Amino acid sequence: MMITLKEAAQKIKAANKILITAHIQPDGDAIGSTLALMQMLRSIGKSAQIFIDDTVRKNLHALPHFEEIRRPEDGEKFDADLMIVLDTSIDRIGGVRKLTDAPILNIDHHVTNKGGDFELYVETSAAATCEIIFKLAAELEVEITPEIATCLYTGLATDTGFFQFSNTRAETLATASELIRRGVSPHFISEQLEQKSLSEVRGLSAALNSLKMFYDEKVAGMILDHDTAKKFDSTEGFIDEIRVIETVDVAFLITEKAPNFCRVSMRSKGVNVAQIADKLGGGGHIRAAGCTLKMPLDEAEKILVAAIGEAL
Ligand code: 5GP
Ligand code: MN
Repeated sequence: MMITLKEAAQKIKAANKILITAHIQPDGDAIGSTLALMQMLRSIGKSAQIFIDDTVRKNLHALPHFEEIRRPEDGEKFDADLMIVLDTSIDRIGGVRKLTDAPILNIDHHVTNKGGDFELYVETSAAATCEIIFKLAAELEVEITPEIATCLYTGLATDTGFFQFSNTRAETLATASELIRRGVSPHFISEQLEQKSLSEVRGLSAALNSLKMFYDEKVAGMILDHDTAKKFDSTEGFIDEIRVIETVDVAFLITEKAPNFCRVSMRSKGVNVAQIADKLGGGGHIRAAGCTLKMPLDEAEKILVAAIGEAL
């Protein structure tokens, strides 16, 4: 059931023990929004705990209260009277789903979020879930501390590619401006976020070497087999290096994480890649989406290239 942000705030005010989660393969918006909301809820006397069922990229570990994020263990239960799911539909929260039977409140900005048998506030024009959480703070009458502001700014910055992507709107920059007023240092956050390990940079070179072009150079893809991919810990940002090719509308990266387990990332300048990802069992935004293809790498490449060709 779709609800308003005001109704979401009322639901939160009525709860006391709140479990917060976000998607697996968490990005800056997932981590930033959960950490900000946890601090906001605690400041109005709620008990709040974040669980995320995945590892988190190192450059987000410096965010305030990061060390308090827990990963669910097999068979573990958590006593809560509300579970808040941020930045995703509830199919991407892994083992957190089994921690509690508490009612769910889902807050998200993905067009592919189809909701379910619970309350959903989805604002697809919001650049980031952090933009929504900033507005929620006003509804909850919470003061935005410098720590909360830092978490929210991180989500805005990462989901917009530092305010460059098409999802950047006036409200995004107004929110960022307000967060800077509350104590955020954009320079400090940018420097933290752009850090890469040596192996990641070496990985980027391997990825660029795998570049393939399709459909009159309208589509660019990088394909990383398991042996190559396992040498480095993250492929974040790789796809942006080929999205910029002047002829390219759709860029993709396929990473064979394990045999028969291929992760797909897509970016576009026009084509609706959320629709392509949705058809393949994933989701995302019009110009940034992804999915998992549980099949051999060469088969995944064929299916993905065909699906992109159909959409062109
Ligand atoms: P990325 O390529 O950065 O992993 O993901 C791009 C966007 O697509 C993000 O907003 C992410 O949440 C979404 N996305 C990526 N993979 C999946 C997936 O398997 N399922 C769904 N529903 N969304 C995905
Ligand atoms: Mn997001």
